[in-house]
Amino acid sequence: MPAIDQHLITITQRPDIVFASGHGSWLTDEGGKRYLDLMQGWAVNALGHSPAVITDALLRQSQQLLTPSPAYFNRPMLQLAQQLASLCGLERVFLASSGAEANEGAVKLARRWGSRHRGGAHEVISFADAFHGRTLAMMSASGKPGWDRLYPPMPGGFAKARLNDLDSVRRAIGPQTVAVMLELVQGEAGVVVAEPDFVRALRALTEELGLLLIVDEVQTGVGRCGHAFAFEHYGIRPDIVTLAKGLGGGVPLAALLCQERFNCFEPGDQGGTFCGNALMAAVGLAVVNEVCREDFLAQVNARAAQLSVGLQAVVQDYGLVGERGLGLLRALELPSPTAPAVVAAAQALAPTGLLLNAPRPHLLRFMPALNVSAGEIDEGLMLLRRALSDARV
Ligand SMILES: *Cc1c(COP(=O)(O)O)cnc(C)c1O
Repeated sequence: MPAIDQHLITITQRPDIVFASGHGSWLTDEGGKRYLDLMQGWAVNALGHSPAVITDALLRQSQQLLTPSPAYFNRPMLQLAQQLASLCGLERVFLASSGAEANEGAVKLARRWGSRHRGGAHEVISFADAFHGRTLAMMSASGKPGWDRLYPPMPGGFAKARLNDLDSVRRAIGPQTVAVMLELVQGEAGVVVAEPDFVRALRALTEELGLLLIVDEVQTGVGRCGHAFAFEHYGIRPDIVTLAKGLGGGVPLAALLCQERFNCFEPGDQGGTFCGNALMAAVGLAVVNEVCREDFLAQVNARAAQLSVGLQAVVQDYGLVGERGLGLLRALELPSPTAPAVVAAAQALAPTGLLLNAPRPHLLRFMPALNVSAGEIDEGLMLLRRALSDARV
């Protein structure tokens, strides 16, 4: 059999599967096999695969206006900005296409503010094991082991602290510090949840010292953690918030939000060809209007509780280490580095496969569609048990 691909640059080892279609929590490959998808493009498809909310918005907007250029206003761009600002409580919005791009914008904004109001302070404190994206600067901001040496010379200006360790933040603060940047749940690190006391103390400390608090909600935002934004869970108000992944529900869309008093970009300081294009903004508006409603979020929390209880039973029955997470961003910790084997076994299950993610060798991550049904959660747990048995965990 010839290899499936001879032309793509290999960025990851992909299984010999080509996906042909997807609906809700289900994907179908070209051979007709169905898979229950509890990964959803790494927490991207907030409403599952090809939901009518998105296909309708795409169809309607694509027949109207794609992109008039970032030099002009368009109606979806204005509506999405207004909706995000009112939901988030931060007044100013910059629309972008990827999480890394939004985070770069956040760091640029902090540095701009530092140059205007803090005598040129520019250093951003970020955290060990953090993930903020794959541009050169965001690789420096991330705390992934080895990333600080992958493409030298790496951009500087990032000091590192440890999550849930306020003293480590205090030690990292120097005269050039302008901001602290964190994920409230470190997703790629293995769903490590920031402690409420730590987050509230960090907010108080940054306020006291006049440092900006940047919260990267690329993975946690837009309903994923059972609130419109995860910072609501902590009862804090960040100075800057970034969104991507679930915001587009499967299309490339990101946002940077800031409080009015930190809105210090001048025309020309920031931009991008696709920033605020009408097509993606229309999708984002449709997703936000669907997800950020009380009744929808109540369902997210009900499914999250069901998944958590089900995973705890799996922990008991299979002698695993534990289960954790916030909302529908959850993880299962295994006693040995068998997570990749479980992922492979789950995918190979017949007749229905199960798609899972292993961000670490000991860890499985669950990021189902936010509108996953109770029956699909039960089916996923049943398939997970079979995969754990097959992989002899
Ligand atoms: C995925 C992710 C990013 C990067 O987003 P891209 O759209 O891949 O650039 C940044 N921060 C967090 C927390 C993420 O999970």
